[in-house]
Amino acid sequence: MFKYRLRLVIYAVLSILGETALATGTCRDVSLGIQILGSGGPEMTDQRASTGYLIWRDGHARVLIDMGPGSMLRFEQTGAQVNDLQVILLTHLHVDHSADLPALIKAGYFTRRNVDLPVYGPTGNTLMPGTTAFVADLFNSASGVFRYLGSYLNGEDTYRLLPHDISAEGKQSTIAVNDRRFKITAVSVHHGPIPALAWRIDLAGQAIVISGDMNGDNHTLELLATGADILIAHHAIPEDAHGTARDLHMPPSVIGTIAATAKVKQLVLSHRMMRTLGNETESEKIIRHHYGGRIVFGDDLQCFSLQATTEK
Ligand SMILES: [Zn+2]
Repeated sequence: MFKYRLRLVIYAVLSILGETALATGTCRDVSLGIQILGSGGPEMTDQRASTGYLIWRDGHARVLIDMGPGSMLRFEQTGAQVNDLQVILLTHLHVDHSADLPALIKAGYFTRRNVDLPVYGPTGNTLMPGTTAFVADLFNSASGVFRYLGSYLNGEDTYRLLPHDISAEGKQSTIAVNDRRFKITAVSVHHGPIPALAWRIDLAGQAIVISGDMNGDNHTLELLATGADILIAHHAIPEDAHGTARDLHMPPSVIGTIAATAKVKQLVLSHRMMRTLGNETESEKIIRHHYGGRIVFGDDLQCFSLQATTEK
């Protein structure tokens, strides 16, 4: 408890000093890369945006994964264009992964986007709507909370949002996105009682995998991530977490085991929360027991350049 309080004090001081955990890299100049929009969790004390990632190809942001609070500002700071997005993938619908989605759609009004935008995310259960219902709850022109933006669902605007539910029940789902340059695959992961997916994007000979929030119980991520060039794993809890936190999230030993089993080339830790911030040395030590590859603790706006190996 004392250690936790000390970390809170350290981060309170850093925030007073204006420390914002921002990286300076850009993904605009790389042939293929993934950029972190938000490396934090739902807290307001971590000086980070909540979850969001952007995959870049030849100067264009093509795939958006999650859109938690603050990701919208980071999206703007990257120089990405709403027009360039080809698909949105949602790992699950917790607020810290989805709340900036309506803000992004509203921002799109001020662009000349005229190509439909697919949104893929998990099916629902009694606690969460499925992705299609979630989008309808936001934008349905009769009943959505933002019904004034209903034209993005009913076909009366320059483009449509096209939501799809991907089964969060089965062990493996594969979806085809209307772009021959990349393939997108999802698996269901255990995130307490919340339907959740991990995503894999294959393009230009590289494989990018995002764990989303999960605790490892489904043992599906190690299969999805096999041979991945980069695995972004959510590092929300320390090793000694228990109870609800452990039912929702994976501790460092599970992250290390998955990265090692899947033989991923590099591991990026994100969704960093007050429970793990300041604890990096200990977390890395535990992960190292299992995994020998490159480990990076991610920050907002950090870009990871990947070696594109196939033709455009
Ligand atoms: Zn979550």
